[in-house]
Amino acid sequence: MKACVRCKALVPDDTNICPVCGGREFSDRWDGIVAVLDPDNSKVASMLGIKKAGLYALKVRTR
Ligand SMILES: [Zn+2]
Repeated sequence: MKACVRCKALVPDDTNICPVCGGREFSDRWDGIVAVLDPDNSKVASMLGIKKAGLYALKVRTR
């Protein structure tokens, strides 16, 4: 798995375009997993600015 640099979504390594935000920049250096099932009713999701259900990284490092 790798994480989208823009929205922190976790996607399979062979993904070229982020399905959540359409970003094309990914990082394999990330920490922590958040599973967002119901973004409208999740405090974690609103804290992280997540609007779509899915798996997200808590921290994404870029070089
Ligand atoms: Zn994204």
